[in-house]
Amino acid sequence: MFAFLIIVASLPLIPAEEPVEMVRIAVGRFPDLVVEGEGLSLNGAGAASSSSLSKVRFGAGKSGLVIDGKAADAAVVVVRAPLLKLAGHSYRGILEVRYQLYDKKPELLVVHPLDLETYVAGIVSSELPRGWPLASYQAQAVAARTFAITQKMRRIDLPYHMESTVLDQVYGGVEREHALAQQAQESTRGQILSFRRHPAQTYFHAACGGRTESAKEGWGAALPYLPGSACHHCDDAPRFHWTVNIARANVDRAFMRLAKGPITSIKITETTASARAKTVELRTAAGTTTITGADFRRLLGWNVVWSTQIDKLELTSTTLALAGRGSGHGVGLCQWGARGAALGGATYQQILASYYPNARLARLY
Ligand SMILES: [Zn+2]
Repeated sequence: MFAFLIIVASLPLIPAEEPVEMVRIAVGRFPDLVVEGEGLSLNGAGAASSSSLSKVRFGAGKSGLVIDGKAADAAVVVVRAPLLKLAGHSYRGILEVRYQLYDKKPELLVVHPLDLETYVAGIVSSELPRGWPLASYQAQAVAARTFAITQKMRRIDLPYHMESTVLDQVYGGVEREHALAQQAQESTRGQILSFRRHPAQTYFHAACGGRTESAKEGWGAALPYLPGSACHHCDDAPRFHWTVNIARANVDRAFMRLAKGPITSIKITETTASARAKTVELRTAAGTTTITGADFRRLLGWNVVWSTQIDKLELTSTTLALAGRGSGHGVGLCQWGARGAALGGATYQQILASYYPNARLARLY
């Protein structure tokens, strides 16, 4: 795949209407499901194929895929229609329903293959609120396209390249797309960030709270284009400053396995250069346990502790009171910062250069 990328990048541009790069998104895992769509057709299930259906029910039987109550003779069925509906979302063209065993239990994995550009427009629409300036959508489009390419390379031998969750990128299907996101995708078509002829790791997050985190401190691997830097543009973010009170019972429950007993004190023992908690010490009657700041956040909940940039930490007899800045892991592009910079007149190239210094804007196609 690396070789492929380099060859494509050095060839003349391929006409825009040709889909040159596909990505495969895991839509979800289901015990059973219904796909709806006008003029729906199935491939791969032998006699089950038809072009006059509008609704098909899939089940995960003990010995294989079940379609409309009948055992199918295939493990993978491709469902096609101009517009497909599944679990409250709409998808264009194709859904693959794959029978698999997960933890020895039969289930259905649904994969949506689509061209990278459509995916990018969908990601920009899902990741960023409406009403933001175009340059912030363009910066997100380049970051999302690059991120998709790196995930594809990582999972090239799996049935899918990306999950549609915050752990990868949130893809909301067709209904989320909006015109300015499409304009951002179209005006940056094929553009990715690269470093030394490889696609860059273009992490992004909601708001950094004033300073982005370096890849070294965030992920443990130093990358010259993710050194961590000051951001002066995200103070409009709703969680630029945040506070939360967590009940003691929830705190004890979150750390039960690690600390083995009710927590008597919590202390941030080490911080990173961007003032994020690197290590946190939990004390109980039995002794102390040190965990990473990221684990501290994960165990209490990503959407409870919004970032590891914690300014205040107070444990009382009833609550754990936290005050912090920013939301997300803090590495790479700060989405609210991109918005602020764009409102101040920055182009998407300037925005990308500020969050990914030393990375180069390159054309994949
Ligand atoms: Zn920021």
